[in-house]
Amino acid sequence: MRYSTLFGKTNKTAPHDAESVNARLLVQAGFVNQLMAGVYTYLPLGLRVLNKIQNIIRKEMNGLGASEIYMPALHPKDLYDTTGRWDQIDVLFKLTGSGEKEYALGSTHEEVVTPLVQQYVRSYKDLPLAVFQIQDKFRNEARAKSGLLRGREFSMKDLYSFHLTEEDFQQFYEKSKQSYLNVFQTCGLDAMIVEASGGVFSKFSHEFQVATEHGEDLVYHCKCGFAQNREIAEVKAGDTCPSCGKGTIKETKTIEVGNIFPLKTKFTGAFDFKVQGPDNALVDILMGCYGIGPSRVMGTIVEIHNDERGMLWPKAVAPFDVHLVTIGSKDDSVNEQIESSAESLIEELKQQGTEVLWDDRETRPGEKFADADLIGIPLRLVISEKTLAEGSFEWKPRQETESRLVKLEDVIEEVKVWCTTPDRLTSQE
Ligand code: ATP
Ligand code: MG
Repeated sequence: MRYSTLFGKTNKTAPHDAESVNARLLVQAGFVNQLMAGVYTYLPLGLRVLNKIQNIIRKEMNGLGASEIYMPALHPKDLYDTTGRWDQIDVLFKLTGSGEKEYALGSTHEEVVTPLVQQYVRSYKDLPLAVFQIQDKFRNEARAKSGLLRGREFSMKDLYSFHLTEEDFQQFYEKSKQSYLNVFQTCGLDAMIVEASGGVFSKFSHEFQVATEHGEDLVYHCKCGFAQNREIAEVKAGDTCPSCGKGTIKETKTIEVGNIFPLKTKFTGAFDFKVQGPDNALVDILMGCYGIGPSRVMGTIVEIHNDERGMLWPKAVAPFDVHLVTIGSKDDSVNEQIESSAESLIEELKQQGTEVLWDDRETRPGEKFADADLIGIPLRLVISEKTLAEGSFEWKPRQETESRLVKLEDVIEEVKVWCTTPDRLTSQE
């Protein structure tokens, strides 16, 4: 992709109203554009990242045996009358349509998915079953000031599972924890599993929390893996860990990137969703729900992986694999050589599935380098009159300060190795 034709460019000045690092860098680098507080357009670079995050999640959900569906965002009020949540969900956007009919914009989908699954489950043989979707959710958040971290419209992957027995539910719930950890690790996020309030139906739900000083949540945790959210915490900083009996409890600010919830019969009960068991008696159906916010994950990655020059995308979610910078010469014939080397490099890399953003503008090299650092693609290659004279490209990973020369004939192979080498940003320390 040629940068000159890319829709959405970098801005020199930071948006004056951006109160968080992710909003400032993503807007400045041309990844997103703010429509109003908590509502963003994804420009091509941002959309590529969002799609990659969603696909990483999709792969893990398929691995759990869940089927992807896509439910409506516009919900009739009567479903919420059935569950009693019309006035309970404080962030629900409510609308009135023709004939004074009332609707909600989906903030979550239990009210839609439960009666949906009910229509297709005829006997106990149809269970267990899990469905998921990746879709925009709407929440009338009071404070939507943290860029992609807290949107009023935001992307969510929501998975719902249905089970006949508690053991079967528990098994699936534990498996989902590992899938979630895989997602966050691939995205370059080191997530803690944190016990959080489960409401009236079970003792705990589990949150996936990423430590950062810009987080809104507060977690009490121990090195042994014990962790509780402030809102339920039975411990405080400095206490001896109640789980291992040795470690000291620490307090850390975090961002919640995922949440899994045992729902027991809260929704299946409300919709009177039961099935006939093997002995013909009616059996209650146990349900779980499992959420991840891909857009919040994107914002969190930026909060964690940035420096004074811009963003540093982990390889798996970077908008492109390689940022190619060409530096023009005063000599037309040299320019032609530079262009043709760039074009053949891009073509050969494409053959092996490597995606390249080519800064082909006639701009000062300093500006191109500053933009490359701001955009944060993991690997920068430069071709100029100087490197050409050495039969080489200049090679510089975004995380490193030193560049080196790589021979023209070796660069394809080296990029291939680079793309498959584990990412320093995603390896757990
Ligand atoms: P929070 O406590 O941050 O308000 P929540 O507990 O209400 O979030 P869930 O309903 O469990 O969140 O939603 C599942 C996931 O969706 C969250 O873990 C988070 O990643 C994401 N999410 C929730 N609210 C927002 C939002 N306003 N903007 C962006 N992502 C969100
Ligand atoms: Mg929460």
